[in-house]
Amino acid sequence: MIMREKVKLEKKLGEYLEDVWKCIRCGFCNSVCPTSTISRAFMASLTSRGRLILLQAYFSNILDKSLSDEKIQELMEYCFGCRRCMEVCPPGVRIPNLIWRVKQFNRERSYLRRTILIRYGSMLKLLSSVSSLSNLLLHSYIGKLLLEVVAEISRDVDFPTFYTSLEKWINKREKRQSHRGKLAYFIDVFTNYHEVDLGKKIVGLVENLGYVVVAPSQREAGTLLLEEGLIDEAYRIAKENTENLYSAIQDGARVLTSSPAAYLALKKDYPELLGDSKSRIVSENTIDIIELLLKEYEEDAIDFDKNPEAQIVYHHSCFTKASGLTKDIRRLLTSAGYTLKEIDRCCGIGGVWGMNKKHHSESIEIGLNLFNELKRMKLPVASQSETCRFQIRNNSSVEVRHPFSFIMDRVKIKN
Ligand code: SF4
Ligand code: SF4
Repeated sequence: MIMREKVKLEKKLGEYLEDVWKCIRCGFCNSVCPTSTISRAFMASLTSRGRLILLQAYFSNILDKSLSDEKIQELMEYCFGCRRCMEVCPPGVRIPNLIWRVKQFNRERSYLRRTILIRYGSMLKLLSSVSSLSNLLLHSYIGKLLLEVVAEISRDVDFPTFYTSLEKWINKREKRQSHRGKLAYFIDVFTNYHEVDLGKKIVGLVENLGYVVVAPSQREAGTLLLEEGLIDEAYRIAKENTENLYSAIQDGARVLTSSPAAYLALKKDYPELLGDSKSRIVSENTIDIIELLLKEYEEDAIDFDKNPEAQIVYHHSCFTKASGLTKDIRRLLTSAGYTLKEIDRCCGIGGVWGMNKKHHSESIEIGLNLFNELKRMKLPVASQSETCRFQIRNNSSVEVRHPFSFIMDRVKIKN
C-alpha cells in the first residue's frame, strides 16, 4: 500500500520531486518559518526543515509509514504556505509546493470539511447576497458554534462582516468613457465580500485617472485550496479564472488586482499549475493597484500632496514579500510623504490557517511579538494583506489599512 502511495505521490510531484533531494538540511528555512516559532515545535519536530527530512526519509524507504499517518499529517498541516522559506533556501527548494502535494493524502479531513473547502467561494457569495442575515447569524453564539462544528472555524474568531459584493456594484454601474484603457478587476473574496468599500475607492480613483473598470466573471483565487492540498480543485479554478481573464485581455483589458493573494495567484501560481500560454499571457498582463499608481507617478500623470508628513508602520506581509511588491509599496508610500518604520514579522494568520480551531491559539502565539511591537509603536499600520489586517486588528487594536488607503486622499491628478 505504501509503495502504491509512493508511486502516486511521485506522479503528483512531477518536476517538484527533485526538490526533495535538493535539500541540504541547512535549517535556514527554520529561521524564517513562522510555525517553527510555536513553543510546541521545539518538542516534536514541527519545523520547516523537519518536513524535508521526512520526505527524504520517505522516498529513500527509511520511513516505513503512510503519508496519511496522523503525526506526518500534523507536521504537514503546520505549513500554511506563506513562502518565506523560499526566499532563504540556498538550493531553492520550493517547499510549499511540495507540502501542498503531500497534504492531499490527509484522510483525517472529513467529507463535510472537504466539501466546504471546495465550495468556499460559492458559499461566501451566497452569504454576501443575504448579508444582513449572514452577519446576524455568524456573529451570534449559535452561529459561531455552528461554524466551529461544520467548518472548523474557531468560535473565538469574529468572522468579518459581509456586504453586497463589489463585483455586483461594478457591474451595475453605468460605464464611463475611457481614454486610458480598460481594467478587468480580479477581486478575490475578502475585498469582494468584506472590504467592499476599499474596492469602491480603488475603482473610483482609477476611473478618475481615465480608465474604465469592469469585473469579468470570476471565482476566488483558490490559494486556500492549494494550501489545503486540494490541487485538482485549485487547478480547475485556475483554469476557469484564466479563461475568463484571457477573454478580457483579448477584449483590450489589462487585469487589475489589489490583494496580494490574487496577484500571486495570477502572476506565479496559475502559470506554474497550468503551464500553458493563456496563463502566461494573463500573468504578463496583470498589474496591481500599487504598481499602477507608481507607474502613473513615474510618468508624471499624478503627484502627491505630501502634507502633513506622517510616520506610519509598514508591515511586510508574507504574500507581499513572495510577490515582490515590497519595494513598490515602499516607494509609493514615501513618495506620498510618509516616513516608514518597517516591521517584517508574520502575524500568524496564514490565510485562514489561523482561524481553524486547531491552530487559532498557535496563530496568536506566532503573531504575539508583532502585536506587542505594534502596540508599543502606537502608529497607524499599512499592510497589503487582507487577512494580516484582520489578524492585526483583532489582536492589537491598532489602526491598520491597505497601503492604498494611506495615499488615496493625497493623489493629485495632473492634466
Ligand atoms: S533552507 Fe532549503 S536546503 Fe536548507 S533545510 Fe530548508 S529546505 Fe533544506
Ligand atoms: S511556506 Fe511558510 S509555513 Fe510553510 S514551511 Fe515555508 S516558511 Fe514554513
